[in-house]
Amino acid sequence: MEIEIATIGGYEEVGRNCTAVRAGDDIVIFDMGLNLSKVLLHDNVETEQMHSLDLIDMGAIPDDRVMSELEGDVQAIVPTHGHLDHIGAIAKLAHRYDAPIVASPFTLELVKGQLEGEQKFGVDNELVEMEAGESMLIGEECELEFVHVTHSIIDAVNPVLHTPEGAIVYGLDKRIDHSPVLEEPFDMERFREIGREGEGVLAYIEDCTNAGRKGRTPSESVARRHLKDAMQSMEDYSGGIVATTFSSHVSRVKSLVEFAREIGRQPVLLGRSMERYSGAAERLGKVDFPGDLGMFGHRKSVDRSFKRIMNEGKGNFLPIVTGHQGEPRAMLTRMGRGETPYEIEEGDKVIFSARVIPEPTNEGQRYQSEQLLRMQGARIYDDIHVSGHLREEGHYKMIETLQPQNIIPAHQNMKGFSPYVDLAKSQGYKLGRDLHVTSNGNRIQLVE
Ligand SMILES: [Zn+2]
Repeated sequence: MEIEIATIGGYEEVGRNCTAVRAGDDIVIFDMGLNLSKVLLHDNVETEQMHSLDLIDMGAIPDDRVMSELEGDVQAIVPTHGHLDHIGAIAKLAHRYDAPIVASPFTLELVKGQLEGEQKFGVDNELVEMEAGESMLIGEECELEFVHVTHSIIDAVNPVLHTPEGAIVYGLDKRIDHSPVLEEPFDMERFREIGREGEGVLAYIEDCTNAGRKGRTPSESVARRHLKDAMQSMEDYSGGIVATTFSSHVSRVKSLVEFAREIGRQPVLLGRSMERYSGAAERLGKVDFPGDLGMFGHRKSVDRSFKRIMNEGKGNFLPIVTGHQGEPRAMLTRMGRGETPYEIEEGDKVIFSARVIPEPTNEGQRYQSEQLLRMQGARIYDDIHVSGHLREEGHYKMIETLQPQNIIPAHQNMKGFSPYVDLAKSQGYKLGRDLHVTSNGNRIQLVE
């Protein structure tokens, strides 16, 4: 059976991930992501109303025109998890394919949110829910399986396409977490089996984000302990404490909610995306929040909530808000500018349970946000966080476990690929033979 891989997006940047695998006449597309930094560069861009080709020209969504060179039918569109660099272009591209969108429950819920917000295209692809551990037939000879992985968002999977020529493992995004906060541990056992069974692993497409960092990525339980330590140290403080983190990181939000209670404060989630992600996780039974946890997204209800906090005393509450990257329109940035009823005073604490995404726009905005908060007297606690991506040791482990015949580095630009290339070379792989460094819009024929 012919096996071909089209590297559509995410091979020249971090963002707009998209890869297609053709096995005979059947094609599966993994991820359709958005490169948010390309959108943020332009002031007031409303992507909801924009046409796909304009967004492709901006570099914001994958340029899927290479798909016309692939001879076969798309059988499924498979987002791996709910981060925007994996699902953010589905509303703009999925309608071009007569294929279902297959995803884990939480990811699918977030995809639905994306499709509801779309104003330019009517996307009526069938939505199919599939849990980790389950599989479905693709055409007559292939099978698509979801393997449970741990990442900085719940319900992430690594999809595996089993073909008669061997398995294709799509490895974006993960860390190997043996003690995550909300979920089952990383399913290393299943990867071990996949590495050994049948024809073995024909190809492994891997996320190179942290390949240049030594050691292993710590577990979410490490970030949780760090957070607990920081918050317990504030137990005696009677003024304002505010926390921010990735809204999509429901495990972290859950930890913040718990520790707020432990230091005698009522947690309250504020900001549209806080409400969206945590609300979705709660509806699906993925997280158990206290019954009286307030979640407010709309401006009016947020302001009402802030007024209540000011009236009843800041010392009784922990607002958990958006704005960890200093995004200009996010809640924490607005608080820093004094645009909300919440008044920050000398000595108040601000917890960033997040790392600045190393990108000039983010770094500048975050700097500005912190300065605004500091000017009002706030004390900053930053970097209470662990990454969601594998470092060196995780990459060694995956190569050793899967023993792939071919490796395709992804989720980076050329510079970002180089540490991973060195690592793979040290394991016996050779560029141009079984280690395929490529860029967007190319095809790699693995079996002719
Ligand atoms: Zn991710």
